[in-house]
Amino acid sequence: MQAVRLLPHLFLVNSLTPEGSPLPTCYSYALDAPAGFVFIDCGSHRAWPLFLEGWKRLQIEDRPWIAAFLTHYHGDHSLAGPAFQARGARLYAHPYTAEVLATQIERAFGPIGTDEVGPFSVDVRVQDGERVAVAGQELEMVYTPGHTLGCLSLLTTVDGRRCLFTGDLILDRGRLGFCGSHGFSAQSVLASLQKCARRDFDLLLGGHHCATRGARACIERGIARGEKDLWASQIAGPRTKRR
Ligand SMILES: [Zn+2]
Repeated sequence: MQAVRLLPHLFLVNSLTPEGSPLPTCYSYALDAPAGFVFIDCGSHRAWPLFLEGWKRLQIEDRPWIAAFLTHYHGDHSLAGPAFQARGARLYAHPYTAEVLATQIERAFGPIGTDEVGPFSVDVRVQDGERVAVAGQELEMVYTPGHTLGCLSLLTTVDGRRCLFTGDLILDRGRLGFCGSHGFSAQSVLASLQKCARRDFDLLLGGHHCATRGARACIERGIARGEKDLWASQIAGPRTKRR
């Protein structure tokens, strides 16, 4: 487990996959905003106890949990959402993500795990281009579909640095994440990466990796791979069961 301060007001809790669990989890980020904490991605419900351990290890003053944004519906990002709500955070997501979590939760992971959580409601639906002010922090929603539909990236400034949270839009070394979801489209991934490349950012904070230096290169590597059709083997790979 990794629980680190990336900037004076930005933290990463990476609970890793709980031992023996078939369910992965993701990187969760916490912004120490003026009126409390704002989280990006909640992780898997199975990793929730590990998240809390990591959170304690950071030894930061426990102020109110105001909001948690879900980048997309996949269970390794979303299924601890109700646990965040129980701590007082309101859940924010794109309408597509909200719809899947409320009505087709089994798509988040398949039947393993989702029956332990059950359907749940997102509190606030947010769209491309919206600037959401929460806990004294402004975050811009950037719709970046491709990995699945409903994928949101978020852009905000923390300690004077532009931070782009990208969920699973692109993994390290320009690789794609899971390619088997309804609405997966390599073309859309490429268009979303090009959309991100037009924006200013200093840190790239993804769902399974982050770059505090060379952030732009992460996006550019993805674009280069996409343009050269180097994702083909990943798309044809074994992990293509639809969900
Ligand atoms: Zn995903």
